[in-house]
Parts: sequence; structure tokens; C-alpha cells
Amino acid sequence: MAKDGHKYIFVIGGVLSGVGKGIATSSMGLLLKSKGFKVNLVKVDPYLNVDAGTMNPTEHGEVFVLNSGLETDQDMGNYERFLNRDLGPEDYMTSGMVYQTIIARERALGYGGKCIEAIPHVRDEILHRFESAAAHNGSNVSIIEIGGTVGDFQNALFIDAARVLKMQHPGDVTFVMVSYLPVPGTLGEMKTKPTQNAVRQLNGYGVQPDFLIARGNHPLDSKRKEKIAVACSIQTDHVISAPDIESVYEVPLNFEKDKFAEMLVKTLALPSRKNADLTAWRKFVRAVTRTRAPEVAIAIVGKYFDSGDFVLSDAYLSVIEAIKFSAAALRIRPRIHWINAKDFERGTAVSTLAKYDGILVPGGFGETGIEGKIKAIEYARTKKIPYFGLCYGMQLMVVEYARHVAELIGAHTAEIDPKTTHPIVVVMENQKEHIARNRYGGSMRLGTYPARVAKGTIAQAAYKKNRIDERHRHRYEINSAYVHELEKAGLVFSGTSPDGVLMEIAELPKNAHPFMLGTQFHPELTARPLAPHPLFTAFLKAARLRMASRQGSRTR
Ligand code: GLN
Repeated sequence: MAKDGHKYIFVIGGVLSGVGKGIATSSMGLLLKSKGFKVNLVKVDPYLNVDAGTMNPTEHGEVFVLNSGLETDQDMGNYERFLNRDLGPEDYMTSGMVYQTIIARERALGYGGKCIEAIPHVRDEILHRFESAAAHNGSNVSIIEIGGTVGDFQNALFIDAARVLKMQHPGDVTFVMVSYLPVPGTLGEMKTKPTQNAVRQLNGYGVQPDFLIARGNHPLDSKRKEKIAVACSIQTDHVISAPDIESVYEVPLNFEKDKFAEMLVKTLALPSRKNADLTAWRKFVRAVTRTRAPEVAIAIVGKYFDSGDFVLSDAYLSVIEAIKFSAAALRIRPRIHWINAKDFERGTAVSTLAKYDGILVPGGFGETGIEGKIKAIEYARTKKIPYFGLCYGMQLMVVEYARHVAELIGAHTAEIDPKTTHPIVVVMENQKEHIARNRYGGSMRLGTYPARVAKGTIAQAAYKKNRIDERHRHRYEINSAYVHELEKAGLVFSGTSPDGVLMEIAELPKNAHPFMLGTQFHPELTARPLAPHPLFTAFLKAARLRMASRQGSRTR
């Protein structure tokens, strides 16, 4: 059962997907939090995958891992970044999860001989999940984003569950539709008809939206606001204009101009009326949109480059955002350049990397572009360009060091070459059985684990502490049999699991390289606008130094 007085805001898309429902949801969350409410944000993904972990990032964007280890949609990353708060596994659900629970229960005779139907059984399971997310978090308000667009086959049961929740708790549930208003080139004016139709479609489910967020290239004028209000039976001031803006982090500030949060509070009869305190957020937005700050050029050498820039920024979303947060704190502007690792295998000279202030190799899987990445890492090491390796980027940094400095000829990761003479990176012991039995879903080393940081290292100087907690997603690890040899050759393992068995951070000492560091974990997942990640900040500080010295040598 729902907690008494708990409030629910459902966010549903109209017209087309990909217009910023996730950011709208995150922004509402931030605004209500800043008014003193405890908020949890919930993402519903209507697909049949049990979690996002088995999907290719070029298909679905980055896989975002929670503390619990659940592999989720990138929207969960936006939620955590805006809320500046960790979310739990109850805050994410897919159709796959819902059906898996129901089918397992049915196989265990859990339905007492009944015929299991979409309605009521699937809908009831969804309702139960909405309510348990609310209960688990001890929050006052849940904002639940239903993936896809109204009219989709896949999300209908979720919308129906939301309808029933409202029926059961009339004053505690409100609906927000995020719609899109196109400006057809031939007409040159913003059209409201698709939005009117989307609202009607939602009405067909028995749901009337209380608010409409009007996304579009331009702000919504008062004439069209009025038109939508009358046509869709929504109060005029509940139609919120949400034009394209430079940074997604400005969206809450825009909503605040329309007093959106205040109206949500009123509609849901929430008790407190404190004005939103957005001082820290405003300061961050000013820093992140500062156009005159000096620019550092960062090369991201990766492999998910098949489908153009759009896919790229989605596949590496948290990495890009983590760079932005640290850059804003350092008052610099990052210019990110995408380098396809395969290019270095097809003849592009690695010396083209000389023009960057920092090189980053992000996480990844498989063989594509791997030798190109290793070449880029070797270049960063020998030319003393700041280097940051995330997960695969750390493993390959160690392979490169083994091959070229420790002189372990043919060194490789067993993920690519299981018969290598020097398996520097090997499959984790408990992963062997998963792989042998084809158990790939949700079986990696996932979620938050503690680590120990060694004194006097670059990592420790950045973190300013000796014990850290970081999020993981990998099956392979540095082979402990080589640790001593690699250390003798000059590599420092500055972070390890508390028992000293797993290598979590590798780096070169300050006197050998300005910044060459890799992490087995994913620091990008916990970087937040109001709490940039210390390792990203340390990397960008080193990049800023290189930028300054490159500029110095140019003017000399
Ligand atoms: N493929 C590597 C592993 O499984 C790295 C994973 C990653 O970068 N997330 O260990």
C-alpha cells in the first residue's frame, strides 16, 4: 500500500520521444528538493530486457550502474546528477523485470491456480513497484517517468497503473505531459495540433494531464499557450514553455521562472511553501555556461563511433558530464574531440594526438579498436600528455606498460587473446562459471565496492582520503601474478581492494609523468554538478597545465 500522504508525479511523453522527458523529470526533482522535500525519481523502461546491461550503447546509450549494481538507463544518471543523491534499485523498472517476477511467481504456484492476465496481474505488479519505490526511499514525492510516448503499445500498462493509483489516491497523484511543438520549415510557425492529439490520446487511457511542458525550438507564445489550455483542458499557467537552451542544467532555472514547482506543490497540496533555494545550482550553471573561459582540448579515444555524433554523446554521457563538472569548477571550458581508435590501426598517425591537452580512454568491451587505443596510450605516456583511463582504459594502460616498459613481449588482456604469453588482464575467478554457462545478464562485478588508496600517490592527493567507494562494471581484472613485476618496472598500484587483492587504480609517479592514471572502476558515474569527481578534476588540472604551457610556447 502507498504510504499515507505520499505524492506521485507521473511524467508521460507526447508526440515524439527524445525531447527531454528525463531532463524535465530531473529538473522537477531538483526544484522540489530545493523546496525542502525528499524526492525520489523513478524510471520506467517499457522494453523486455530485464535491465539495460545487455544492450549495446550505440542502441540505447550508456549503461548507468547504481550503487546496488543494477544496470540501468542513462536517465538514472541524470536523476542522480540533478538530485545530488544516490538512487536505489527500486527506482528503476523495466517490463522485463515485471514479467520476470510474475512468471517466476506463476511457476511457483504463487497465483493459486488462477489464469494470469495483463490486467489485473501485470498492472498490479507495476502498482506494487510504484508503491514500494515510494516506501523504500522514505521520500515525500516520487516523480515517475514513463519511457516512450503515449500511444506506444509497450507502455500502456504502466500508464494504466498510474491511472489506478490516481483513482485510489485522488489528491496525491498528478500527471505531467512532455510534448513537442514542431515548427515546419514551410510554415515557419509553431504548431499545436500534434500536442492536442497527444493529450487526446492520453485522455483515451482515462488520464487527464494537469501540466503540459511544451518543448520546442522556440518559447511558446501566449496565444498558443491559451490555445493548448483550452483545447486540452489544462490551466493556462500549467502550460510550461520549455524552449531549447544551451545547457540542460538551465532547465530547472527556466521552470522556476514559470513557478512550475510552486504550482506542483499547490496541485498536490504539499505542506511546505519554502522558496526554492537554488544558489549553488545557479552558481554552477553560470560556471558551466561561461563562454569566455580558457579552452582545454580533450581527446576521447573510443570505439562506439558507428552512428554519428548523436549516438556518441549518449554512449559516453556520464564521461562527458563528469568532464564538464570538473572543468566548471576549474573555470575552464572543455572541448571534447572524438577519436575513433580504429583510425590508428588504419594508418592515421598517433602524433595527431599532440594537439590535445588530455587523452581519455573510456570503458569498453571486445576487440574493436583495441590496438589503436594501446597506441594512443603509448603516445600519451611517452609524450607526457595527461592520460585518464576508465576501466578498459585502465586495463589497456597496464597492458601498454607491460609490453613497452616491463618488456613482457606479447602482453595482452585475456579478454582478447586468451592464449597470450603474458595475460596481464584476466577474467575474475567468479566470472568463469557465468561465462561458461552463458549467464551474461547482470553478472559482472557490478556496483559499489570500497578501495584503499596508497599514501603519497596522485590518487590520494586527489581524493584527500585513504578509503573510497566507487562503482564497478567489469569481468576482467589485473592479473595479480604480474603486479610485482610491473611495480618493479615503475608502475604504481595506488588503489586496491581493502584486502589488497584487486588492483583498482594504476598510475605513474609524478616524476615520471604529469598525470597518467587509470581506474578499474567508473568515477564518471558518481561525478555530480555540485560535487565534481576528484580524479576528473586532477586530470583536467594536468590538462590545464599542458594547455598553458602549449600556449606559452606558441607565443614565445
Ligand atoms: N571489458 C573489460 C572488462 O570486462 C572492461 C569493462 C569496462 O570498461 N566497463 O573487464
